[in-house]
Amino acid sequence: IADFKDGEWTDFRVEPYAPLMLNPANATLHYGQSVFEGMKAYKSKAGETLIFRADANQKRLNNSAKRLCIPEVPEDLFMEGLKKLLEIDNEWIPNRAGYSLYIRPFVFATDDYLGIRPSNKYKFIIFTCPVGHYYAKPVTVKVETAYSRACEGGTGFAKAAGNYAGSLYPASLVQKQGYDQLLWTDSKSHQNIEESGTMNIMFVINDTLFTAPLTTSTILAGITRDSVLTLAREMGMNVEERFVTVTELEDALHSGQLKEAFGTGTAATIAHISLINVNEEDYHLPEKPKDSFSYKILEELDAIKYGKKEDTHGWIMK
Ligand code: PMP
Repeated sequence: IADFKDGEWTDFRVEPYAPLMLNPANATLHYGQSVFEGMKAYKSKAGETLIFRADANQKRLNNSAKRLCIPEVPEDLFMEGLKKLLEIDNEWIPNRAGYSLYIRPFVFATDDYLGIRPSNKYKFIIFTCPVGHYYAKPVTVKVETAYSRACEGGTGFAKAAGNYAGSLYPASLVQKQGYDQLLWTDSKSHQNIEESGTMNIMFVINDTLFTAPLTTSTILAGITRDSVLTLAREMGMNVEERFVTVTELEDALHSGQLKEAFGTGTAATIAHISLINVNEEDYHLPEKPKDSFSYKILEELDAIKYGKKEDTHGWIMK
Protein backbone atom coordinates (compact mmCIF):
# COMPACT_ATOMS: atom_id res chain seq x y z
CA ILE A 1 0.00 0.00 0.00
CA ALA A 2 1.13 3.57 -0.66
CA ASP A 3 -0.71 6.86 -0.14
CA PHE A 4 -0.68 9.87 -2.42
CA LYS A 5 -0.99 13.17 -0.57
CA ASP A 6 0.47 16.67 -0.90
CA GLY A 7 1.50 15.80 -4.45
CA GLU A 8 3.60 12.70 -3.74
CA TRP A 9 3.45 8.99 -2.96
CA THR A 10 4.36 8.27 0.65
CA ASP A 11 4.00 5.77 3.45
CA PHE A 12 4.95 2.68 1.43
CA ARG A 13 4.12 -0.40 3.54
CA VAL A 14 2.97 -4.01 3.51
CA GLU A 15 -0.11 -4.81 5.57
CA PRO A 16 -2.16 -7.96 6.16
CA TYR A 17 -5.20 -8.25 3.89
CA ALA A 18 -7.97 -6.38 5.73
CA PRO A 19 -11.04 -4.18 5.14
CA LEU A 20 -10.50 -0.54 4.23
CA MET A 21 -12.20 2.25 6.14
CA LEU A 22 -14.06 4.63 3.82
CA ASN A 23 -15.95 7.80 4.56
CA PRO A 24 -19.44 7.97 2.94
CA ALA A 25 -18.19 10.99 0.96
CA ASN A 26 -15.22 9.01 -0.46
CA ALA A 27 -14.67 10.39 -3.97
CA THR A 28 -14.31 7.00 -5.69
CA LEU A 29 -17.76 5.89 -4.50
CA HIS A 30 -19.36 8.90 -6.21
CA TYR A 31 -17.10 9.95 -9.07
CA GLY A 32 -15.39 6.71 -9.99
CA GLN A 33 -11.70 7.60 -10.06
CA SER A 34 -10.41 4.05 -9.98
CA VAL A 35 -8.06 2.18 -12.32
CA PHE A 36 -6.64 -1.30 -11.99
CA GLU A 37 -4.50 -4.01 -13.51
CA GLY A 38 -4.61 -7.79 -13.71
CA MET A 39 -1.41 -9.78 -13.97
CA LYS A 40 -0.02 -13.15 -12.94
CA ALA A 41 2.95 -14.82 -11.28
CA TYR A 42 3.86 -18.43 -12.02
CA LYS A 43 6.04 -21.00 -10.33
CA SER A 44 8.68 -22.72 -12.43
CA LYS A 45 9.43 -26.40 -11.94
CA ALA A 46 12.58 -25.36 -10.08
CA GLY A 47 10.41 -23.33 -7.68
CA GLU A 48 11.30 -19.87 -8.97
CA THR A 49 8.70 -17.08 -8.98
CA LEU A 50 8.15 -15.78 -12.51
CA ILE A 51 6.13 -12.60 -13.06
CA PHE A 52 4.81 -12.16 -16.59
CA ARG A 53 5.20 -8.75 -18.30
CA ALA A 54 4.99 -6.62 -15.14
CA ASP A 55 6.53 -3.65 -16.96
CA ALA A 56 3.68 -3.66 -19.49
CA ASN A 57 1.09 -3.69 -16.69
CA GLN A 58 2.85 -0.83 -14.92
CA LYS A 59 2.82 1.27 -18.10
CA ARG A 60 -0.81 0.48 -18.84
CA LEU A 61 -1.84 1.37 -15.28
CA ASN A 62 -0.33 4.82 -15.74
CA ASN A 63 -1.90 5.21 -19.16
CA SER A 64 -5.28 4.50 -17.57
CA ALA A 65 -4.51 6.74 -14.58
CA LYS A 66 -3.69 9.74 -16.78
CA ARG A 67 -7.09 9.54 -18.54
CA LEU A 68 -8.86 9.68 -15.16
CA CYS A 69 -6.70 12.44 -13.64
CA ILE A 70 -5.19 9.93 -11.23
CA PRO A 71 -1.48 10.45 -10.40
CA GLU A 72 0.89 7.99 -12.05
CA VAL A 73 2.52 5.27 -9.96
CA PRO A 74 6.31 5.50 -10.39
CA GLU A 75 7.92 2.40 -11.87
CA ASP A 76 10.14 1.78 -8.83
CA LEU A 77 7.20 1.99 -6.41
CA PHE A 78 5.21 -0.45 -8.54
CA MET A 79 8.07 -2.94 -9.00
CA GLU A 80 9.37 -2.79 -5.43
CA GLY A 81 5.86 -3.17 -4.06
CA LEU A 82 5.27 -6.14 -6.33
CA LYS A 83 8.54 -7.85 -5.40
CA LYS A 84 8.06 -7.29 -1.69
CA LEU A 85 4.51 -8.63 -1.77
CA LEU A 86 5.52 -11.71 -3.74
CA GLU A 87 8.29 -12.50 -1.28
CA ILE A 88 5.58 -12.69 1.37
CA ASP A 89 2.92 -14.32 -0.82
CA ASN A 90 5.40 -16.72 -2.42
CA GLU A 91 3.85 -19.74 -0.71
CA TRP A 92 0.50 -18.89 -2.33
CA ILE A 93 1.79 -19.34 -5.87
CA PRO A 94 0.45 -22.74 -6.91
CA ASN A 95 3.06 -25.17 -8.18
CA ARG A 96 0.70 -26.86 -10.66
CA ALA A 97 0.24 -26.63 -14.41
CA GLY A 98 -2.57 -24.24 -15.28
CA TYR A 99 -2.48 -22.55 -11.87
CA SER A 100 -0.96 -19.20 -10.96
CA LEU A 101 -1.15 -16.26 -8.61
CA TYR A 102 -3.42 -13.49 -9.85
CA ILE A 103 -2.11 -10.04 -8.93
CA ARG A 104 -4.40 -7.02 -8.68
CA PRO A 105 -2.70 -3.60 -8.50
CA PHE A 106 -5.11 -0.66 -8.34
CA VAL A 107 -5.28 3.05 -7.59
CA PHE A 108 -8.33 4.89 -6.33
CA ALA A 109 -9.32 8.29 -4.91
CA THR A 110 -9.45 8.57 -1.11
CA ASP A 111 -10.41 12.20 -0.60
CA ASP A 112 -13.81 12.90 0.95
CA TYR A 113 -15.91 15.62 -0.73
CA LEU A 114 -18.95 16.26 -2.86
CA GLY A 115 -18.31 18.04 -6.16
CA ILE A 116 -16.79 17.15 -9.51
CA ARG A 117 -13.05 17.60 -9.43
CA PRO A 118 -10.06 15.27 -9.24
CA SER A 119 -9.30 13.99 -5.75
CA ASN A 120 -6.16 15.22 -3.98
CA LYS A 121 -5.56 11.89 -2.22
CA TYR A 122 -5.22 8.36 -3.56
CA LYS A 123 -4.23 4.86 -2.48
CA PHE A 124 -2.18 2.41 -4.52
CA ILE A 125 -2.74 -1.17 -3.39
CA ILE A 126 -1.60 -4.55 -4.69
CA PHE A 127 -3.17 -7.80 -3.48
CA THR A 128 -2.99 -11.35 -4.78
CA CYS A 129 -5.16 -14.45 -5.10
CA PRO A 130 -4.27 -17.99 -6.29
CA VAL A 131 -6.28 -18.97 -9.38
CA GLY A 132 -6.84 -21.93 -11.68
CA HIS A 133 -8.28 -22.06 -15.18
CA TYR A 134 -10.66 -19.17 -15.80
CA TYR A 135 -12.88 -21.01 -18.25
CA ALA A 136 -13.16 -24.74 -17.71
CA LYS A 137 -14.75 -25.12 -21.15
CA PRO A 138 -14.94 -23.16 -24.42
CA VAL A 139 -17.01 -19.98 -24.31
CA THR A 140 -20.15 -19.01 -26.20
CA VAL A 141 -20.54 -15.42 -27.34
CA LYS A 142 -23.16 -13.13 -28.84
CA VAL A 143 -22.37 -10.12 -31.04
CA GLU A 144 -23.89 -7.04 -29.36
CA THR A 145 -25.24 -4.39 -31.72
CA ALA A 146 -27.44 -2.27 -29.44
CA TYR A 147 -25.41 -1.40 -26.35
CA SER A 148 -21.84 -0.03 -26.38
CA ARG A 149 -18.93 -0.58 -24.05
CA ALA A 150 -16.85 2.38 -25.23
CA CYS A 151 -16.96 5.33 -27.59
CA GLU A 152 -14.18 7.21 -29.34
CA GLY A 153 -12.70 9.83 -27.06
CA GLY A 154 -14.01 7.97 -24.02
CA THR A 155 -12.27 5.73 -21.50
CA GLY A 156 -12.50 2.39 -23.33
CA PHE A 157 -8.73 2.06 -23.73
CA ALA A 158 -8.22 2.54 -19.99
CA LYS A 159 -8.62 -0.22 -17.43
CA ALA A 160 -11.04 1.97 -15.51
CA ALA A 161 -13.52 0.50 -13.02
CA GLY A 162 -16.44 2.39 -14.59
CA ASN A 163 -15.99 0.65 -17.94
CA TYR A 164 -16.87 -2.62 -16.29
CA ALA A 165 -19.88 -1.18 -14.45
CA GLY A 166 -21.39 0.00 -17.74
CA SER A 167 -20.98 -3.40 -19.35
CA LEU A 168 -22.69 -5.44 -16.63
CA TYR A 169 -26.29 -4.90 -17.72
CA PRO A 170 -25.86 -5.77 -21.44
CA ALA A 171 -23.74 -8.78 -20.39
CA SER A 172 -26.48 -9.93 -17.99
CA LEU A 173 -29.03 -9.83 -20.83
CA VAL A 174 -27.01 -12.15 -23.08
CA GLN A 175 -26.24 -14.40 -20.12
CA LYS A 176 -29.98 -14.75 -19.54
CA GLN A 177 -30.23 -15.95 -23.14
CA GLY A 178 -27.61 -18.60 -22.38
CA TYR A 179 -24.41 -17.02 -23.79
CA ASP A 180 -21.29 -16.62 -21.68
CA GLN A 181 -20.17 -13.24 -22.99
CA LEU A 182 -20.92 -10.63 -25.58
CA LEU A 183 -18.73 -9.31 -28.35
CA TRP A 184 -18.82 -5.54 -28.34
CA THR A 185 -19.11 -3.59 -31.57
CA ASP A 186 -18.20 0.07 -32.15
CA SER A 187 -20.66 2.63 -30.79
CA LYS A 188 -21.26 4.43 -34.12
CA SER A 189 -22.01 1.80 -36.75
CA HIS A 190 -22.17 -1.33 -34.56
CA GLN A 191 -20.43 -3.05 -37.46
CA ASN A 192 -16.82 -3.32 -36.22
CA ILE A 193 -16.14 -6.07 -33.72
CA GLU A 194 -14.07 -4.64 -30.90
CA GLU A 195 -13.50 -7.02 -27.97
CA SER A 196 -15.34 -8.94 -25.26
CA GLY A 197 -15.88 -7.72 -21.72
CA THR A 198 -12.72 -9.35 -20.36
CA MET A 199 -10.68 -10.35 -23.41
CA ASN A 200 -9.43 -9.14 -26.76
CA ILE A 201 -10.88 -11.17 -29.62
CA MET A 202 -9.04 -12.87 -32.46
CA PHE A 203 -10.30 -14.66 -35.55
CA VAL A 204 -8.46 -16.97 -37.91
CA ILE A 205 -10.11 -16.49 -41.29
CA ASN A 206 -8.53 -18.74 -43.91
CA ASP A 207 -4.84 -18.44 -43.00
CA THR A 208 -4.87 -14.96 -41.52
CA LEU A 209 -5.09 -13.94 -37.88
CA PHE A 210 -7.31 -10.88 -37.40
CA THR A 211 -7.75 -8.72 -34.33
CA ALA A 212 -9.12 -5.22 -33.80
CA PRO A 213 -6.53 -2.40 -34.03
CA LEU A 214 -5.72 -0.12 -31.09
CA THR A 215 -6.25 3.07 -33.10
CA THR A 216 -9.70 4.04 -31.83
CA SER A 217 -9.23 4.57 -28.05
CA THR A 218 -12.10 2.14 -27.50
CA ILE A 219 -10.20 -1.10 -26.94
CA LEU A 220 -8.05 -2.22 -24.02
CA ALA A 221 -4.47 -2.81 -25.16
CA GLY A 222 -4.35 -6.39 -23.90
CA ILE A 223 -0.94 -7.64 -22.87
CA THR A 224 -1.90 -11.17 -23.89
CA ARG A 225 -3.03 -9.72 -27.24
CA ASP A 226 0.41 -8.21 -27.74
CA SER A 227 2.16 -11.44 -26.68
CA VAL A 228 0.02 -13.55 -29.05
CA LEU A 229 0.60 -11.18 -31.97
CA THR A 230 4.36 -11.18 -31.31
CA LEU A 231 4.52 -14.98 -31.22
CA ALA A 232 2.19 -15.32 -34.23
CA ARG A 233 4.43 -13.09 -36.34
CA GLU A 234 7.48 -15.06 -35.22
CA MET A 235 5.71 -18.28 -36.21
CA GLY A 236 5.26 -16.82 -39.70
CA MET A 237 1.52 -16.35 -39.36
CA ASN A 238 -0.13 -13.70 -41.50
CA VAL A 239 -1.42 -11.09 -39.00
CA GLU A 240 -3.81 -8.23 -39.70
CA GLU A 241 -4.69 -5.68 -37.03
CA ARG A 242 -7.93 -4.43 -38.47
CA PHE A 243 -11.61 -4.63 -37.64
CA VAL A 244 -13.55 -7.67 -38.74
CA THR A 245 -17.06 -6.43 -39.48
CA VAL A 246 -20.24 -8.19 -38.39
CA THR A 247 -21.03 -8.89 -42.05
CA GLU A 248 -17.56 -10.31 -42.69
CA LEU A 249 -17.88 -12.51 -39.63
CA GLU A 250 -21.29 -13.73 -40.76
CA ASP A 251 -19.93 -14.48 -44.27
CA ALA A 252 -16.89 -16.28 -42.85
CA LEU A 253 -19.13 -18.38 -40.60
CA HIS A 254 -21.50 -19.23 -43.48
CA SER A 255 -18.70 -20.17 -45.87
CA GLY A 256 -16.65 -22.09 -43.33
CA GLN A 257 -13.69 -19.73 -43.79
CA LEU A 258 -13.71 -18.89 -40.09
CA LYS A 259 -11.30 -21.51 -38.80
CA GLU A 260 -10.87 -20.35 -35.22
CA ALA A 261 -12.16 -17.71 -32.84
CA PHE A 262 -10.73 -17.07 -29.40
CA GLY A 263 -10.35 -14.51 -26.67
CA THR A 264 -7.03 -13.46 -25.16
CA GLY A 265 -6.56 -12.20 -21.62
CA THR A 266 -4.50 -12.58 -18.46
CA ALA A 267 -7.21 -14.59 -16.70
CA ALA A 268 -7.90 -17.11 -19.47
CA THR A 269 -4.71 -16.69 -21.58
CA ILE A 270 -6.56 -18.15 -24.60
CA ALA A 271 -10.28 -18.91 -24.43
CA HIS A 272 -11.54 -20.95 -27.34
CA ILE A 273 -14.93 -19.82 -28.66
CA SER A 274 -17.28 -22.68 -29.51
CA LEU A 275 -20.36 -20.72 -30.56
CA ILE A 276 -21.01 -17.25 -31.97
CA ASN A 277 -24.44 -15.68 -32.26
CA VAL A 278 -24.62 -13.08 -35.03
CA ASN A 279 -27.89 -11.36 -35.92
CA GLU A 280 -29.83 -13.81 -33.73
CA GLU A 281 -28.37 -16.86 -35.45
CA ASP A 282 -26.16 -19.40 -33.63
CA TYR A 283 -23.06 -20.70 -35.41
CA HIS A 284 -21.12 -23.60 -33.92
CA LEU A 285 -17.35 -23.68 -34.31
CA PRO A 286 -15.29 -26.87 -34.42
CA GLU A 287 -13.55 -28.18 -31.31
CA LYS A 288 -10.02 -26.85 -30.92
CA PRO A 289 -7.82 -29.38 -32.73
CA LYS A 290 -4.23 -29.90 -31.56
CA ASP A 291 -2.87 -28.50 -34.82
CA SER A 292 -4.89 -25.28 -34.47
CA PHE A 293 -3.15 -21.95 -34.13
CA SER A 294 -4.76 -21.17 -30.78
CA TYR A 295 -3.68 -24.52 -29.33
CA LYS A 296 -0.08 -24.01 -30.45
CA ILE A 297 0.09 -20.44 -29.23
CA LEU A 298 -1.33 -21.38 -25.81
CA GLU A 299 1.33 -24.10 -25.48
CA GLU A 300 4.03 -21.63 -26.47
CA LEU A 301 2.83 -18.92 -24.07
CA ASP A 302 2.46 -21.36 -21.18
CA ALA A 303 5.96 -22.71 -21.81
CA ILE A 304 7.34 -19.17 -21.47
CA LYS A 305 5.20 -18.30 -18.43
CA TYR A 306 6.17 -21.45 -16.52
CA GLY A 307 9.85 -21.12 -17.45
CA LYS A 308 9.93 -24.26 -19.61
CA LYS A 309 11.08 -22.29 -22.62
CA GLU A 310 13.71 -19.58 -22.87
CA ASP A 311 12.30 -16.08 -22.45
CA THR A 312 13.73 -14.42 -25.57
CA HIS A 313 11.45 -11.35 -25.29
CA GLY A 314 12.34 -10.18 -21.77
CA TRP A 315 8.77 -10.93 -20.61
CA ILE A 316 9.66 -12.65 -17.34
CA MET A 317 10.73 -10.90 -14.15
CA LYS A 318 12.16 -13.12 -11.41
N1 PMP B 1 -10.20 -6.34 -22.74
C1 PMP B 1 -10.77 -6.11 -21.54
C2 PMP B 1 -11.97 -5.25 -21.48
C3 PMP B 1 -10.22 -6.67 -20.37
O1 PMP B 1 -10.78 -6.46 -19.17
C4 PMP B 1 -9.07 -7.49 -20.48
C5 PMP B 1 -8.45 -8.10 -19.24
N2 PMP B 1 -7.50 -7.24 -18.68
C6 PMP B 1 -8.50 -7.68 -21.75
C7 PMP B 1 -9.10 -7.10 -22.86
C8 PMP B 1 -7.25 -8.50 -21.93
O2 PMP B 1 -6.12 -7.80 -21.45
P1 PMP B 1 -4.85 -8.58 -20.86
O3 PMP B 1 -4.39 -9.51 -21.92
O4 PMP B 1 -3.86 -7.51 -20.58
O5 PMP B 1 -5.31 -9.28 -19.64
